[in-house]
Amino acid sequence: MEKIFNLLRERYKVSEYKNEPFQVLIGTILSQRTKDENTAIAWKSLFSHYKTPKDIAKAPEKKLRELIKVVGFYKVKAERIKEVARILVERYKGEVPRDISELLKLPGVGRKTANCVLAYGFGIPALPVDTHVHRISNRIGLVSTKDPVKTEIELKKVVPKRYWIYLNELLVKFGKDICKPINPKCNLCLIRELCLTGRINKLPQAFIP
Ligand code: SF4
Repeated sequence: MEKIFNLLRERYKVSEYKNEPFQVLIGTILSQRTKDENTAIAWKSLFSHYKTPKDIAKAPEKKLRELIKVVGFYKVKAERIKEVARILVERYKGEVPRDISELLKLPGVGRKTANCVLAYGFGIPALPVDTHVHRISNRIGLVSTKDPVKTEIELKKVVPKRYWIYLNELLVKFGKDICKPINPKCNLCLIRELCLTGRINKLPQAFIP
C-alpha cells in the first residue's frame, strides 16, 4: 500500500485540508450525482448569498433553488440543504457535529458525505468511499467487496491511518485519468505491477482465472 500511495502522490497533487465544515457539508450534498464543475458553480453562488446555517435556514427555498439550479436534482437538494441548516440551528446550535453518528442523522447525509465532512471539514482521519475508491480498491486487490460500506471497513484495515485523508482525492483523480470505470488504461498505469487486475491482464489469456 505504501508504495502505491507514494507513486500516486508523486503523480497527483492533493489539497491541504481543512475547510469550513458547514461549507464542506453543503458542498458534498450539492455534489451528489453531479459533475464537479457544476457543483463548484452552485456552491459559489450559494455561499456568495448565504454564509451560515442560520442564513440558509431562513432563506426562501425558491431562492435556494435558483442559486443551485446548475446541479442535478436541484429542487430536492434545495429542500434538503434548507432542512439540514434548520436542524443544525435547532439541535446543534448552528454548528456541524464532529461525530459520524450525528452527521448520519442529517437528511441526505450518507457515509461518504459524513466522512468528507470529518476529513475535509475537521481534518479528522476518515475515509470517504465513492464509486472511484470502491472500484479501484477492488481492482488493485486491496479489498474484495461488493459495496462501498464494506469497502470502507476493509480499507481501514489495510490502509495506514495517516493516508486516509488523502486517499479519496488521489483515487478520484487517478480514476478519472487512468483507472477509468470502463476500459482502464492499464498499459499506461504507474502502479500496474502492484495491481492484481493489471498483473492478470498482462498474462496470456490462457492463464487468466
Ligand atoms: S493496472 Fe489497470 S486496473 Fe490496475 S490500477 Fe492500473 S489502470 Fe487500474
